[in-house]
Formats: sequence, C-alpha cells, structure tokens
Amino acid sequence: QKARIGVTGLAVMGRNLARNLARHGHAVAVHNRTQSRTKALVEQFGDEGTFLPADTPEQFVASLERPRRLVVMVKAGAPTDAVIEEFAPLLEPGDMIVDGGNANFLDTRRREAALRERGLHFVGTGISGGEEGALHGPSIMPGGSAESYAALGPLLEDISAKVDGTPCCTHVGPDGAGHFVKMVHNGIEYADMQLIAESYDLLRHAAGLAPAEIAEVFRTWNAGRLDSYLIEITAEVLAHTDAATGRPFVDVVLDQAEQKGTGRWTVQTALDLGVPVGGIAEAVFARSVSGHAALREAARGLPGPSRTGAAGAGFADAVERALYASKIVAYAQGFHEIQAGSAEYGWDIDLAAMATIWRGGCIIRAEFLDRIRAAYEADPHTPTLLTDDHFAAAAGDAQDAWRDVVATAARLGIPAPGFSTALAYYDSLRADRLPAALTQGQRDFFGAHTYRRVDREGSFHTLWGGDRTEVTS
Ligand code: NDP
Repeated sequence: QKARIGVTGLAVMGRNLARNLARHGHAVAVHNRTQSRTKALVEQFGDEGTFLPADTPEQFVASLERPRRLVVMVKAGAPTDAVIEEFAPLLEPGDMIVDGGNANFLDTRRREAALRERGLHFVGTGISGGEEGALHGPSIMPGGSAESYAALGPLLEDISAKVDGTPCCTHVGPDGAGHFVKMVHNGIEYADMQLIAESYDLLRHAAGLAPAEIAEVFRTWNAGRLDSYLIEITAEVLAHTDAATGRPFVDVVLDQAEQKGTGRWTVQTALDLGVPVGGIAEAVFARSVSGHAALREAARGLPGPSRTGAAGAGFADAVERALYASKIVAYAQGFHEIQAGSAEYGWDIDLAAMATIWRGGCIIRAEFLDRIRAAYEADPHTPTLLTDDHFAAAAGDAQDAWRDVVATAARLGIPAPGFSTALAYYDSLRADRLPAALTQGQRDFFGAHTYRRVDREGSFHTLWGGDRTEVTS
C-alpha cells in the first residue's frame, strides 16, 4: 500500500497533523530524523488510521503515491533547508514539498524558485491553531502553484477546520503568499492580544476589578460581538487560581512577554512595504518593553499618577467599545499589509477569502472575521475596512467611549499603546489636513527635499538661505 501523503518532522505539530490526516481516512507515511518519535507515534496512535512508518528518507519517499505529497514540519530556518536538500534529490518532477513550518515568506520565495528549477512544486503553507488545531482542524494557508493546489488542496481542505461547512483552507496565491498571510495573521494576533491585555489592565486599575471579576466581564463580552477564541481563553486564564499560592494565576506569572518572530517580521515587512501597522508594531514593542527588566527596574521610581482610579459602572462598557473600535483598526492595518504585499509580489490575494479561512481553526478565529469577509465581498477593492458601513458605524458609535478610555489611561498613567495608536490612526485617516505639510517644509528647509503644493502640479523648493523665493525643481 502507498500513502496519499507523508509527514516528516513528528514533533507536536507534525504528529498531530499526521494523526488528523489518518483520522480522515488518508493513509499517511510518517518519518522523523530521530526514529523514536516515529515509533512512538505508531505505538500510541496507530489505531487511529493507516500510518506507514519509514526509517529512512528513501523508504519514506518510496511509500508515497505519485505525485508525491511530502509535508515538512520541522523547525523553521536552516533545518527546513537541510530537510529539503535531503529529500529533493529523491523526488521526481511533479512531486511536491509542502513546508508547514513558520517560514519567512522570503525564504519560501527562494525555496520555491529553486525547486521549480528542478521540476518540483514547493508549497509554503501557513498553519494556525497550535497543537490542538493541527489535530482537530487548523486554518491552512497554502501558497504555491495552482497545479500543486489541485493535487494537494482537497486533502488540506478535508483536514482543516470548517465554519458553516466551508473549509478554513484555500489557495492563497503563488510562492510566498501563504507564509506571508500566515505572518500577518500572527501580527494581527499580537495586536489583538495586546488590546485584550490593555483592556484587562484598565479594568483592573482604573475600575478596580479583581481578576475573577474581569474574567466575568470577558465572558459577557464573549457572548456578544467580541465573541472569539482569544476572549474566551482570556476569561479562562483570568479565572484561574494558582494552586501553590492561592493567588490569581495572572499575579504569579512574570510580566515579561516573549515572542518567536512572526510579529516582528510583520512589522519589518510593513516598514519595507510602507504600510502603517501601528497597532501591530505597538504590540510587538509592548512585549519588548516588558522584557527589558533592567530598564524597567531603573525607571520604576519615575514620577507619575498612581495607576488607580474609581471609574464608574459604565466603564467596562466603554472599554468594550474601545476594544472593538481598536480591533477594527488593527485588522484594517493587517489587511492593508496583505493588500500591499499582494500588489508588490503579484499574488492577487482574495481578501474576503482570507477572512473566510480565519473564521475557524486559527488563533484569531472569531465571529468578527465573518464581518470582514462580508466587507470585502461587498467591495473587494475597499481601501480600508474602516470605511465599510458596518465598521464605520461601530467606530462612530464607539467615539466617546474610545476617547474616554484613552484619556483615562493617560490620566491614570496606565500604558495603553494599542488603544492610543489605534485612535491616532483613526484620527489621522479622517483628518482634513495633517501636520505632514509642516514636516515637508522642514525637510525642504534643511535638505532641499522639495514639496508639492495644494494648488499647482509640480515639485517646489523655497530658497530658505536666500531671499526665500520659490523655485520649481
Ligand atoms: P519544532 O519547531 O520544535 O521542531 C522539531 C522538529 O524538527 C523535530 O521533528 C525535529 O526532529 C525536527 N528537526 C529539527 N532540526 C532538524 C534537522 N536539521 N533535520 C531534520 N529534522 C530536524 O516542532 P513543532 O512541532 O513545534 O513545529 C514544527 C513547525 O511548525 C515549526 O516550523 C513551527 O514554527 C511551526 N508551527 C508550530 C506551531 C506550534 O504551535 N508549535 C503552530 C504553527 C506552526 P528530531 O525529533 O530528530 O529532533
């Protein structure tokens, strides 16, 4: 018997993906550099479906039906290149290597081009949902050729999460498109988590609620328009008590957030593409600030308000509105980045389809994504989600609360970089005039960088060091 698909790299993600495939009735070849992992998988879960264990790469490749579908689930970076180099020589034209790791999309573009030269398909695919998602149905974002998707897509759609019967998997676009979209997904995830963290901090310090009470607030929110996996797990974490000390779990965890890199890539890429993603950037920086222990220790005594307030009963409702509006901004920025990446690399990414496959399986899964899907279906070329009827109305409705929450945070000395940058972005976009005109004047003054005028075409320069007449440049 041959396997329909094979998975090499059987740590948490690969193992669960292989089990998911087997549970869906697909015979799956399994291989891992360290053979004990392969043995353990078959011993523990062999009864879940048909596994074809392989000890060597040659045996693994020989057990796959053609065209061969070979999924690589190893550590991103150099290990992925090493594994590709190990397997590619064993494959034949038309076969495909699927990289399900968290690769940088530029690496994926490089690998795709190199393997295409050798007649092989390379499918860089984003997979979100963590360990549980991989087993029960992740959100899958495959890039690569349309031909490879025809041979691989049905299998991936079969094991992906489903929302209203629709698979959370679609062909994203050529070469690095899938990993690019996964990267932005993670960037949005950072922003969403940061906004939730700020909401918690404000409820705790400005409204004086205890973690267990805040858990209840989040549970209420989760029954409304903020219904999402992240809000749901936030309530769980806040309600949890540390067994050793009896204190709220959130109070015994060291307050230094770590990161693996996809959020940082999202911001670096946005800078290269010239896309303002302040919400995502502030979220990455907030984690970074939290980790600078010595810096924080040195600055701990700086003067400022006491961080405690006595916000009234309506404050939780105000925070909910601020959170919803800020969340719209963060997602609008992320989708803008996908739009820009798609244009830059010629990927032709369908934004409504991306919102559709993020509705389930992934970490940012939420009711909210269905709204985004509807917005892009109504107008695929909308310059920003903020002008969609539903989102514009929600942001409009949130106005007073949003400003009040940001002002309260500033007044009490509670850092709220996510809320603040979201509101600043919103106000920047809607402004009639921005002080960028002054910036242009300064640039022309010190560097003769020229400026354009509101009333005439062309580039101009004022002779600042001379008689200050204006010349056409
Ligand atoms: P790890 O990232 O911890 O990688 C471990 C696996 O990589 C093992 O199978 C290991 O083999 C293999 N490996 C490492 N180096 C080599 C090498 N040089 N040659 C061959 N095999 C090698 O595993 P995860 O399951 O956590 O993640 C797999 C991929 O999925 C990663 O790219 C990760 O970023 C991505 N991912 C992870 C998610 C998660 O929630 N964990 C979510 C989404 C994506 P050995 O057993 O022999 O050491």
